[in-house]
Amino acid sequence: MDKLNKITIGIDMAGCPNRCKHCWLGAAPNGKMEKEDMVFIANAFRPYANKLEIASWYREPDFRDDYKELWDLECQLSDEKTPHFELMSYWRMVRDKDYAEWLYSIGVRKCQLTLFGSEKTTDYYVGRKGAYSEIVKSIDILFKHGIAPRIQVFVNKDNIEELPFIEEFMDNLELESRCKEIGQEFQLFVHSGSCEGENEKLYEIIVTKEDLNRIPEKLAELTLKHFGKENLQEVFGKSEKDLIKELLGNKKTTSIVSTFPVFYVDANFNVYPNVTQPSPWWCLGNLKADGAEQIMNNYVNNKSKAQHLINHISIGEMVSLCGNPDSERLFSKEEYILYIQNQFCKTN
Ligand code: SF4
Repeated sequence: MDKLNKITIGIDMAGCPNRCKHCWLGAAPNGKMEKEDMVFIANAFRPYANKLEIASWYREPDFRDDYKELWDLECQLSDEKTPHFELMSYWRMVRDKDYAEWLYSIGVRKCQLTLFGSEKTTDYYVGRKGAYSEIVKSIDILFKHGIAPRIQVFVNKDNIEELPFIEEFMDNLELESRCKEIGQEFQLFVHSGSCEGENEKLYEIIVTKEDLNRIPEKLAELTLKHFGKENLQEVFGKSEKDLIKELLGNKKTTSIVSTFPVFYVDANFNVYPNVTQPSPWWCLGNLKADGAEQIMNNYVNNKSKAQHLINHISIGEMVSLCGNPDSERLFSKEEYILYIQNQFCKTN
C-alpha cells in the first residue's frame, strides 16, 4: 500500500467531563488509556504515512491531570504538530491554577467557550450542574492570563428566546472592551450545530426560518462577521424541504478517502474516520484485533459499512428514502448530506 501524505490521530485517552446534548461525537463512557497505548497507536500507523500527528484527545482537551506530559508526548510522537486548538477544558480551568499559564506558554491566545442561554439552560445542555458557573469563572481566569474568550452559542427552538440573556452576559462581563485591552477582537457566534451524535436527538427542535428573526441584532452582526456571511440564512442554511428538492436528482456517490485523513481511536481501540459521529457503521476496525494494515485497507478501499454504502448509493437515492419532505428545519447542505448518510447507514 502506498504511504499517505499525513495521518492525524486523535485518541480518546480520558473522555470528557460533560455530556452535552449537542455533542456530535456521541456520549461514550470515559475510558482510561495509558501513555504506552499512545506509543502503540503511533507505531502501528507510522508505516502508512509520510508524516504522523498524534493528539491525546478528541473530546475534552487537557482533561487528564497529566495533560502537560501528554502534550509533550504528542509532540514527541508527531512529525508535525499543530498548535494547541483554541479549545480548552473549563472543568480543568477552575480546578488547576497552572492551566491558564500553561495554555499561554504554548501559544494559546483565544479559547472557545459554549453557552446555551441562562445558567439553568446551559447546565441542562452541558449535562452537568455547575458548568455555567465554571464558564463564568474561566472567563476571568483567561483574561488575567492574556487569553481572549470566544463565545459559541448553540440554538434550538427551546432556547433561542434566551439570546437576549447572552447579549446581557456579554455586556455585563464587558467582553468586548476586555478583549480589546489584551489586544484581541471579541468574537461570538450563534448557530444550530450539526445533526449527528447526541445532536441528532434534537432533530424535532431544530430552528426554522421564522426563528432567525429572534436573534438579537448585535449577536446577528457578530455571527455574520465570524462566518464571513451576508445574512443569517447563509449561516443556518436552507429548509430540509428545499434541500430535498435540490438533492433528489443528485446521482453523485461519495468517497471520503483522502491522502491526509484524520482518524479517531476510541478507548477500546476502535478506529473511525473523522467525518462525522464515531458510530459502528463508520468503524474501520479494531486496532488490537484487526491491526493497522486491515484498518488502512478498509479506509483506502471504502470498506467500512458507511463508506461502502455512500460510495455505491447516490445522495439523491438516500434523500428520497430518508428525507422528510414536509420539514422546514434549517440545515447547511453539507450537514444535511451527513445527516442523511447517517440515517441511511443506520437503517441499512
Ligand atoms: S461537545 Fe465537547 S465538551 Fe461537550 S460532551 Fe462533546 S466532547 Fe465533551
